[in-house]
Amino acid sequence: MERVASKAEARLAVTEARREGKTIALVPTMGALHEGHLSLVRAACERADYVAVSVFVNPTQFAPGEDFESYPRDLEGDLGLLAGEGVDLVFSPSVGAMYAADAAAVVHPGPLADHWEGEVRPGHFSGVATVVTKLFSVVRPDLAFFGEKDYQQLRVVERVVTDLDLGVRVVGCPIVRDDDGLALSSRNAYLSAEERSSALALPAALEAAAAAVAWGEREARAVERAMLERVAGVRGLELDYAVVVDPRTLEPLDRVDRTARALIAGRVGRTRLIDNAALAPSADIGGAGTTEGNR
Ligand code: AMP
Repeated sequence: MERVASKAEARLAVTEARREGKTIALVPTMGALHEGHLSLVRAACERADYVAVSVFVNPTQFAPGEDFESYPRDLEGDLGLLAGEGVDLVFSPSVGAMYAADAAAVVHPGPLADHWEGEVRPGHFSGVATVVTKLFSVVRPDLAFFGEKDYQQLRVVERVVTDLDLGVRVVGCPIVRDDDGLALSSRNAYLSAEERSSALALPAALEAAAAAVAWGEREARAVERAMLERVAGVRGLELDYAVVVDPRTLEPLDRVDRTARALIAGRVGRTRLIDNAALAPSADIGGAGTTEGNR
């Protein structure tokens, strides 16, 4: 496994692999890796001959006052985990290596980025779209792997790839959860034991939504109410949104007559958490939620 910190070195390493005719995959991450990230890495290793993982805490996707400075960083630990997975290249640039001091051009993903996370975190998706476009332009992968954990991000990246003709196949991977149901996240490290038990209301609310749909509820507002009832009164939890949306456009739905997506987000203490789940009126959970395409 090769580790590089400059764009030139990363380009060179991948160029050699490409010359050998290898299929190239990229797994973009912000590090502090856990089993969720590793599931993406494993999917990439299965599908590609050469797997690059980027580890970069991207400042442009943090809004002012967010946790950019304190975001968990553990490059040595990350390298140890990746070495056991058959990864070929780790690209871990500094902020200065990634962005010129006078960098000004950015990618605006359009209306998909306006709602939900985009509303709570102004500029977030522009930062994501910009850094992903830059990473794609350095590595030029055939395939790129993203988690459904960040469902809106996955849709935004697909939109950018399609609209800017980036020629990368975006592969969405299922959410990996802890035994207690909490979606794995680098930010879970911030949670005290008490906060963690409050945070479990998020996956519980998603389960309540899925159960309501399974029992025949088709009114999206009623499904949202089932989520709100589950989080009401949970100590220290401040909900940002709990909504039922179209899995592709992320626009709110009136009815759940086909597979929909429930999105939920909030803060527990200082820790921001997001989660989501497929809502399937029939037995086709995951069908419309899983992504593959946009070449
Ligand atoms: P991050 O390091 O948080 O930017 O995440 C890097 C990638 O890992 C993103 O595509 C995330 O959606 C994905 N990811 C993070 N947590 C999980 C999880 N629990 N399950 C699946 N994918 C995840």
